[in-house]
Formats: sequence, structure tokens, C-alpha cells
Amino acid sequence: MSDPTLYPVSPEWAERALMDKAGYGAARQQAQQGPDAFWAQAATRLDWITAPTVIKNVSFDRADFRIRWFEDGVLNVAWNCIDRHLPTRRDQTAILWEGDEPTDSRAITYGELHGQVCRMANVLKAQGVKKGDRVTLYLPMIPEAAYAMLACARIGAVHSVVFGGFSPDSLAGRIEDCASRIVITADEGLRGGKTIPLKANVDAALERVSGVETVLVIRRTGADVAMVAGRDVAYAEAAAGVSDDCPCEPMNAEDPLFILYTSGSTGKPKGVLHTTGGYLFWASWTHELVFDYRPGEVFWCTADVGWVTGHSYVVYGPLANAGTTLMFEGVPNYPTVSRFWEVVDKHKVEIFYTAPTALRALMREGDEPVKSTSRASLRLLGSVGEPINPEAWRWYHEVVGEGRLPIVDTWWQTETGGILVSPLPGATDLKPGSATLPLPGVELQLVDAEGQVLEGATSGNLVITDSWPGQMRTVYGDDQRFFDTYFSAYPGKYFTGDGCRRDEDGYYWITGRVDDVINVSGHRMGTAEVESALVLHDDVAEAAVVGFPHDIKGQGIYAYVTLNKGVEAHDDLKKALVAHVRKEIGPIAAPDAIHWAPGLPKTRSGKIMRRILRKIAENDLTSLGDTSTLADPGVVDDLVKTRAQH
Ligand code: ATP
Ligand code: MG
Repeated sequence: MSDPTLYPVSPEWAERALMDKAGYGAARQQAQQGPDAFWAQAATRLDWITAPTVIKNVSFDRADFRIRWFEDGVLNVAWNCIDRHLPTRRDQTAILWEGDEPTDSRAITYGELHGQVCRMANVLKAQGVKKGDRVTLYLPMIPEAAYAMLACARIGAVHSVVFGGFSPDSLAGRIEDCASRIVITADEGLRGGKTIPLKANVDAALERVSGVETVLVIRRTGADVAMVAGRDVAYAEAAAGVSDDCPCEPMNAEDPLFILYTSGSTGKPKGVLHTTGGYLFWASWTHELVFDYRPGEVFWCTADVGWVTGHSYVVYGPLANAGTTLMFEGVPNYPTVSRFWEVVDKHKVEIFYTAPTALRALMREGDEPVKSTSRASLRLLGSVGEPINPEAWRWYHEVVGEGRLPIVDTWWQTETGGILVSPLPGATDLKPGSATLPLPGVELQLVDAEGQVLEGATSGNLVITDSWPGQMRTVYGDDQRFFDTYFSAYPGKYFTGDGCRRDEDGYYWITGRVDDVINVSGHRMGTAEVESALVLHDDVAEAAVVGFPHDIKGQGIYAYVTLNKGVEAHDDLKKALVAHVRKEIGPIAAPDAIHWAPGLPKTRSGKIMRRILRKIAENDLTSLGDTSTLADPGVVDDLVKTRAQH
């Protein structure tokens, strides 16, 4: 459902921005006409030990498939994120850490960051970790998580960060997949006033998987945890015995930097592999461009480092750009639902980047918890992770941003390393709910199921016709799965898995995963569109829509609806919601079934798992699949129980 309103670039933004409309047009053209020259010039933003002379070497064809960027370049990521800033910024805050409790915060300067990362690198070396070894990180959002990532990068080890909310089973699977011999964890995590038994989870995971020789345990809460002799090492003691200086390992641009398993909303998690040069370049370049970022500005991305968003926009992008990055241990609703905005005021945050799922949850609480804070330091808002429904966009813009702040709705994936489609605050007029236009150098197409290229205003499957430096290089240990998943559906093109609409202005509207597109009586519809219409209703907090087999229509529309606090579920409301969707989109989109859902199954990163909702809607309860990455598996049981009534 498109919002007719256009929010033009303000004169102040056009004035101050690094890239204005003309600059954006020119950059797109340059990137198209001479990609090697364009990217070679752009890549000078990094400090290279040996500057690359071969810029791009890519083929998406099966016969000679390869993705290589800057392949003869040599650099080190930790050097780029720390050491090179020291001469001028030793005392600038690199990491602003805000703990779970509002009384708990800390500023870490670049000078301190250097010492801490070197120490951890030396501890890893002392434990026998070498270039190319995989190191699993299972940590809370504490500065040590960033130290550990950068320490690996410093010595050329490959990190695999596993979100601290994952179960022992999920952790074991990820340790096994990349055969790590070392795990870095903490005694406990702390989120929303509750402790998470991280070390105990590691112990449980290691009963299921062999090969781990060392567990480094960082002290967070000070809880008394069991230590296995000969395997477990208290980090503080080990760190006290090593030097706080450690040289950076020269790395080839195509050496692996990290593995990160996708959230698993579409199936078995994939070990997405990113390499050194292309990834760091992309994280840094997009962070500067999309957030119009200048060194030293206070940047807050609320994502956990367990997700790619935390990798690219909590750690690597901001630090490569000599930034001050805020790292938040807690949750949006602890101790109160004003917490985000209080943190903004406390640390004078200038740029704030979060996910629609958090915004929708906060929106439910009304405007007062936002309005009671100042937010005067903010100048830019961002969104990532899901399509942001226009209703949430407008709330973000009007209530959080008081109508004065642009919103960058950034579309990207774990696979893409960083943002690919997004407005630029000084160059792009905004439309609520649209990720707008591709960044320079990103070539999008919409194709139909047969691969036919679709022109003009239309809907189809989103593909990318050429490589960009931040593209993933393979699925760890499974090149075949990499090719099959992304390059076989539409030969010669990268298939995103997402459905998308392009409007008459050439703006892109992600409509959700292609698997989630429903076909009602021959009309293709994105689930996001129907969900947005439902959420627009005053009584609805959240909605998830899936298709189910329907005798007449082919597919019917099945809507799971969570009501706002205090609203009672009843049949008249169902009728009202159906009528409301008819009015908003048209009769074709009217839900055939509405299922009152006290909660929705979500991945740990807050995305709705429609795969499971589809099964429940189809009444196929025997094969719900892998639910281990769900935030709260209990939600599924509740939905199954109430299924009969629908
Ligand atoms: P898996 O691949 O394991 O199913 P996932 O796709 O949820 O997990 P991510 O890589 O974190 O893992 O998410 C990328 C997906 O999130 C995109 O393909 C898209 O569907 C959605 N997405 C991210 N940002 C946006 C956005 N701004 N607008 C619309 N959709 C978005
Ligand atoms: Mg995905």
C-alpha cells in the first residue's frame, strides 16, 4: 500500500550532505560506466599495506563462477578500525557502552581499544590460535565482544559470532559446522534485568560437539560458574599475563574475515562467509554514505553483534570511519519503555538505527514514553530488517523524529555485507515504506518466475545483475549450496529471495520474501502489503499474513492478528478488520481467516517466521521444521492450540 505523500530532501540536508541529488546521479553513472575506476578510487578510503591493482574479477556463470574484489590488495581490518586513527584520535571515544542498568555505562577511547584488542589477540595466540582458524564468539553485548572480533581480525583468525540468545543446540550446530577449536564466552549475560547462563549453555553445547579445546570465559556478572580444568580459561587472568601490543597480520583482501549464520527464517542456517577487503570497504563506505557520517559523531545501531547489522554498523563500519559507536547491552523496554530515548538523551546520540519490530512494540505503548524525552541531539533515523509498514514509518517520523528527521529505510541481507538499497538523506525524497533506490554500483532488476526481465512500474522477484565488493563469497564449506541458493534460479544473476514492487518513480518496495507472496485468484500479493493494512487499524498491534490452500481462489489469506493492549477480541472486530482491508487495498486482499494471536513466532532478531505460520494455517502440524532459532517456542504451542477455533 503506497503512501502518496512524498517527503522531499530538506534544504539543510541538501546543503550539508556528502552526496546530494546531482552527486548521486553522477556516482551511479560512473559506477556503471567504469566500475574498476570507480571502485579503485572509492577503496582508497581504506589503509592498504599493498594497494590493489586488480579491482574486480567476477563471473556469476556456472562454468567460471568467481567473486573476487581487490584480489592482490593486502590490509588488516583491525589496523583500519583502530591503529590508523591513533595519531589523531587516541583520546576520542571509540565505543560508548551502555549497560543493561541505566547506571552502568562506560566510554572506551581508541587508545584503550587498541590496548584491549591487542591483549585479547595475544591471549588467542597463546592459546594456539593461528591465521585461518575459526573462533566462535558467544557473548553478551559488552565491549569484549567487539574486542574479540577485532582481535581475531588482527591475527587473521575467522570469527563466527553466535547470538547470546541461542540455545545450546543452536550453538553446538554452529561450532560443529565451522569446526572451531575455541569458544569465547562470558559467565553470564544480562538483558532486561534477567541473567542468561552463557557459560552453562556452552558447557551443554560442548556435550554435543567435540573438538573444542579452549573456552575463554569473560567475567560479566561475576557469577560463580563451573570451570573445566584443562579446557576453560578465565580471560582476566590470561589477559593480565600478556602484552598490550600485538602486530597486525597482513591479510590478502580475499582472506576470510568472518562466518555468520543467517537467522534461519527460511530454513537451515547458512554459514555466510565474508572476506577482508571487500567487506570492510562496503561496511565503511555504506556507513558513511547512507548515514552521512562524519568522524566522531555519536552513532547508535541497536542491533546485537550476533547479527550482521551488529557486525557492519556497530563494529566495523563506524570504527573504520573513526566513529563513536554506541553499544547497548539491554532491551528497549527495560527498565521502562522510554529506555531508547533516554539513552539517546544521555549520550547525545546523533544517528539512531533500529528495526521495525522494536518500533512496533514501542508504538503499542503510546506516544507519552517518547514525548517525555528530548531527543534534540538526533538528526537522522534508520530502519532495517523488515519492510517498515507506513504506519510505523509515520510514527517514527512524527513522534520520534518530531517531523524533522529523515528516515533511511535500508534494505540488505547477511549475504550482502552491508546496505544495498536505501535513501541517502541529502539526495533522496522519501516515501514511507519504500527503501527507495539502489546505492551507486548496485544494479537491480525485477524478473518474473521464468526469469523474464520486467520493465517499468511492476512487481517481481528482486535480482542483482552484477557484484558489489561486500557480497558474500560462499556458504562456509559448501560452494555448491552457495551457487544453488543464489545463482541457479536466474542464471547470471544473484537472486535475493525477496519479492519487490517498483513504482512509477522507479522506487523499490520490498514486499517480503518470495516464498511469502500469495496468489489469490491469480493476483499476486506481498504479505507485507496486507499486514500493513491490518496494522493501520487502531486496534491492531501486529499482524502476520500467510497463504493457505483454498478450493476456489487457489490460495486464501490467513491473518494472524495481535491486538493492542486492552482491546478485546470478538467476531465483530474480525468483520471490521476484513472490511478495513477491503477498503485499504481492495476486495481481493480481504482475509479469509483471522486468527487472534497473543504473540507471533519470531526469530531471535525479531523477524516473523512465516514458514511456521504457513504450516499452522495449513493445519499441517506434524512438520513445523526447525524451531530452534525461535525467540519463544511457546508461542507456537499457543497458536497450535487456538488453531481449532479458526
Ligand atoms: P534467513 O536467510 O536464514 O531466512 P533472514 O533472511 O531473516 O534469515 P537476514 O539476512 O538478517 O536474515 O535478513 C535479510 C532479509 O530481511 C531480506 O532478504 C529482507 O527480506 C528483509 N529485510 C531487511 N531489511 C529490509 C528492509 N529495509 N525492507 C524490507 N525488507 C528488509
Ligand atoms: Mg535471508
